[in-house]
Amino acid sequence: MSRHGEKVGVLGAAFRCAECGEIAGVLRLTPAGQPVDMGPPLGRTTHEADGVSLDLFGGTSWHRLEGEAFGRLRALIETDAPDGPDALEIRRVHWELAPFLCRECGDVYCWTDWKPSVTFDDGFYDETRGTCPRGHRQTIDD
Ligand SMILES: [Zn+2]
Ligand SMILES: [Zn+2]
Repeated sequence: MSRHGEKVGVLGAAFRCAECGEIAGVLRLTPAGQPVDMGPPLGRTTHEADGVSLDLFGGTSWHRLEGEAFGRLRALIETDAPDGPDALEIRRVHWELAPFLCRECGDVYCWTDWKPSVTFDDGFYDETRGTCPRGHRQTIDD
């Protein structure tokens, strides 16, 4: 199964694409008050609330995560399980934390292999939908 990632650095987990083997996304917990490198153009940023950043999957995004949900995600990322962090469990905390996991295949795919297509609502960005290599469509960014 390739829905499992590997731990990286402090409080981080990286997930590889089942199709091409490239990194599909990196999750990094950002406890309140601790500076995190968000990459250009944001650089080092300190958040006032607990949250998690998602890198490399179509850019960098940050999601606020409160109390219990933050604790659950932290336990999933710091897991001692031999397989490493499980994207399916992470997706259960919130789908936007593991949008790279196909709900139907149970595999992880990178942004490119999702063949993203953006939809607009009245000229404004609405969401990005993707089609996985096996033809399943789902929202990958909202
Ligand atoms: Zn790929
Ligand atoms: Zn699929």
